[in-house]
Amino acid sequence: MAAINDNLQAVAARLREAARACGRDPSSVRLLAVTKTVPSDAIREAFGAGQRSFGENYVQEALEKQAALAGMRDGIEWHLIGPLQSNKTRAAAGGFDWVHTVDREKVARRLSEARAADAPPLNVLVQVNVSGEASKSGVPPAQAGALARAVAGLPRLRLRGLMAIPEPTEDTRLQLEHFRAARTLFDELNKQGLQLDTLSMGMSQDLEAAVAEGSTMVRVGTAIFGARTNAKAAA
Ligand SMILES: *Cc1c(COP(=O)(O)O)cnc(C)c1O
Repeated sequence: MAAINDNLQAVAARLREAARACGRDPSSVRLLAVTKTVPSDAIREAFGAGQRSFGENYVQEALEKQAALAGMRDGIEWHLIGPLQSNKTRAAAGGFDWVHTVDREKVARRLSEARAADAPPLNVLVQVNVSGEASKSGVPPAQAGALARAVAGLPRLRLRGLMAIPEPTEDTRLQLEHFRAARTLFDELNKQGLQLDTLSMGMSQDLEAAVAEGSTMVRVGTAIFGARTNAKAAA
């Protein structure tokens, strides 16, 4: 049972090393622990090791685990990192602190309408498709600015930045190229006055490249909780 604690420390060490290698402050990169298919006992264990931010891909799965971890609800920050259908926006607006995958104005509007008036605004990232695959979600880079401005104008949302899931590749040069495209867009939008502070990119396989290109939040599952066996995890 010490494995999760050990793995968290190993990932933290990788992040420190990646930051050091490019002259960044290690505290400028946050670790989001990705828990799709991971049972709530393992989340409890990671919580015990000090981890507080968790990312889930499916709204229903997340709500079930949140119920099982009810006593810890206040201490945990929940992030939705999977595709969001518009019929799930109400549940998502109530069950999460962050949504990383906004790629349509309609979904943003619904999230804002559904976010409770007495809750803090929902933190939102605009998902951008930097590797141009037809199969992946995310807004094309050329449309990210318009969507980001729309999100920024919605009363119950707080625009925080961008999120990217580039196509998986072992080719470090390609990894860097895709992450750099996200970073360039992030910098441009900030120059236009959007005040973004979060660039969510990098996973177990490519977090070093993501940190080198300016990621402020890496989303790591396998390197913390081990390989996922559930078929749903392949989605
Ligand atoms: C599953 C998932 C991750 C974590 O991937 P690992 O390779 O297990 O670290 C990160 N981001 C998203 C959007 C995911 O779906």
